Amino acid sequence: KTSILTPFATSQGQSKDGKRMALFANIAMGMEAGSAFGRGAEGIGLFRTEMLFMDQEQAPDEDEQFEVYREVIEAAAGKSVIIRTLDIGGDKPLPYLELPEEENPFLGYRAVRMYPQYQAMVETQLRALLKASRYGQVDIMIPMISCMEEVEWISQLCQQCQAQLQAEGTEVGQWRLGIMVEVPSARYLIEKVAGLIDFISIGSNDLTQYFMACDRGNRQVSSLYDSFHPGFIAFLRDIARAAKSAGLELGICGEMASDKRALPLLLAMGFDEISMSAPSIIPLRAELAKVDFDACGKLLDEVCAQGTADQVKACIEHFWQQQE
Ligand code: PEP
Ligand code: MG
Repeated sequence: KTSILTPFATSQGQSKDGKRMALFANIAMGMEAGSAFGRGAEGIGLFRTEMLFMDQEQAPDEDEQFEVYREVIEAAAGKSVIIRTLDIGGDKPLPYLELPEEENPFLGYRAVRMYPQYQAMVETQLRALLKASRYGQVDIMIPMISCMEEVEWISQLCQQCQAQLQAEGTEVGQWRLGIMVEVPSARYLIEKVAGLIDFISIGSNDLTQYFMACDRGNRQVSSLYDSFHPGFIAFLRDIARAAKSAGLELGICGEMASDKRALPLLLAMGFDEISMSAPSIIPLRAELAKVDFDACGKLLDEVCAQGTADQVKACIEHFWQQQE
């Protein structure tokens, strides 16, 4: 069956005037990778590994994880694969971890913050990832980074796991380390940790929550929880500039990445990849092909000068009307 979208099923994401921006897929299970590539994904921008650890009596062992990561990497056949290490705790408990009840779980003990206590579990995941890198490059991404010590700690642990595997006679392939920028303080780490990492990916869901001080699941404040707040757009632009000047690859993997309204702004900021649920990829690639890079830059300036999220959205709506 052919449609007006058919040419965008296999092409690479680029604007009308040829500025590249790749469209990647978010997945939560290994077996989703094949269908994501079938739906036009140019890479996997976020593999959320939590599902692997949930609904079990204990954490999955190294072999079990290795098989899943290998499945994804083999499905990618040379395309990028970003796999996020465990993002759990607080609101997302695991039965086999002893996590305290917290008054503010979103501000509490979660993700990378609990890694030192559960170091053996983290090492198992890193070893499985490094082993899987034999089948294609693995980009390892760490969630909820908020300070330099966390990046140093995990970077060292990756090196240690690699040395251990090699000492055991196990081959390790190409891998890279990256961090999610989803806590505002991570903005000011970019220059300082650039030597330890290769890429960043913006978690706009949590970054909006922490930037606006607004629970992402609380309906009473849902009008404030808005990624189109002009301050938030300006913050993203600043993060993007910092990442580019530090020579880091730049991606985004929150809900905002699949929003057509954000597309011209993200292009103007220079994102290398935007990652979303697979069904959005082909339609969004068709939208991307309608816009010019320079016009998107003008829109971005205009948007950042607005006072309210509604004004931002009105500017964007006007922009899209002119593209038709
Ligand atoms: C995010 O915070 O934007 C993100 C991609 O991570 P999650 O939605 O899994 O918290
Ligand atoms: Mg997040």
